[in-house]
Amino acid sequence: PPRSTLFPYTTLFRSTTEWDHNPDLQFDLVSYLGFPIHYPDGSLFGTICILNNIETRFSSVMSQLMEQFRNQIESELRIEDLLRKDAARLELMEIQNRLYELITFNTSDVIWVLNVMQKKFSYVSPSIFQLRGLTVEEALSEPLESSMTPESAAKVNSMIANSIGAFIKDKVQRAYTVNEIQQPRKDGQIIWVEVTTRYAMSEQGEIEIIGISRNIEDRKKKENEIEYLSTHDHLTKLYNRSYIEAEAEREISRAIRYQNAISFLMIDIDLFKQINDRHGHLIGDEVLQTLATTFALALRKTDICARFGGEEFVILLPETRLEGAIGTAEKLRRTIEATVFPNNIRLTISIGISEYKLGETLDDLIRNADKALYTAKRKGRNQVIAYKS
Ligand code: GH3
Ligand code: MG
Ligand code: MG
Repeated sequence: PPRSTLFPYTTLFRSTTEWDHNPDLQFDLVSYLGFPIHYPDGSLFGTICILNNIETRFSSVMSQLMEQFRNQIESELRIEDLLRKDAARLELMEIQNRLYELITFNTSDVIWVLNVMQKKFSYVSPSIFQLRGLTVEEALSEPLESSMTPESAAKVNSMIANSIGAFIKDKVQRAYTVNEIQQPRKDGQIIWVEVTTRYAMSEQGEIEIIGISRNIEDRKKKENEIEYLSTHDHLTKLYNRSYIEAEAEREISRAIRYQNAISFLMIDIDLFKQINDRHGHLIGDEVLQTLATTFALALRKTDICARFGGEEFVILLPETRLEGAIGTAEKLRRTIEATVFPNNIRLTISIGISEYKLGETLDDLIRNADKALYTAKRKGRNQVIAYKS
């Protein structure tokens, strides 16, 4: 057939003698949607097709999707061809690698069609087994709601509710929408899936959503790791300075809007240099770790504790007035005083407290706590001092 020509939309193998030798026949595959794939010189490389065991009318959107896959494979063939001619061109090699990734990635993507009104899938490609451990039959009979976590289902439902009106009005949607949802696998594991969708009108005049689903667990894991590393301190696993500063800014804007109280604790270990000198830096590090877990255990869930630097820690107490903050600080001071650290080390901490006043900036809040901390050190350490203006 000429290039770019679709084979007959739906081919019934049984009625066409030229297909009699096709081995797919023994599996009762009767419907066929396919595209020829050509080498750059025009000769035939192969075909890409969907075979189905029922008489199916494939929609034009589905054939567009198939054509995209075909085009990707042909691009790959073109690149291979160019590379054969000029193997030294590294630039092309890189493109080839990227294309290769794209294509191998795509083989595990799931293509599906959802009948919006019936909330049922009318087509799901077999790679659903790789993605969710389901057979095509299982996926087709699964209600839309149970194919996702309740949170994702709520998100998807409201997205459909918000966007369907525009589609009904215009009957076209050119751009694809990309969403990240969570879906259960057959074994119960919940996975992150990126779903690329667009609306289409079926040949029966029903609204459909055509989608491609892709497993993004690895990407999500990496994103979470990066998120964790950028917000936490490596040694103590507490939050880091930049995280707590951003969090404090958020609390301050909330305080301005709702007149909430905020208190801020600045904590410094007393005479920590001596501990390092006597026991070595490594034991010093272990002491910092023990201190961090002791703090975490002593605090409420809503309190945010961070390592501010070296052996300085800060704690943000949302919705807490000065009196409450003094109580928390005293409790921490006494707990640390009573704690036995690695190598039988005993130590104390000094704490400066500031309470947020309307009109102040985060810098003011930190500076005031720091001043109070300095006073605590000057007065002999192992004590809690609240800042007074
Ligand atoms: P004080 O605060 O009571 O005035 O006395 P200090 O001896 O604690 O003095 P300062 O706070 O100025 O010194 C902090 C010391 O903490 C200096 C540094 O060697 C040590 N330190 C800072 N960061 C780390 C760390 O990550 N690991 C270890 N082991 N020690 C650290
Ligand atoms: Mg210090
Ligand atoms: Mg110190």
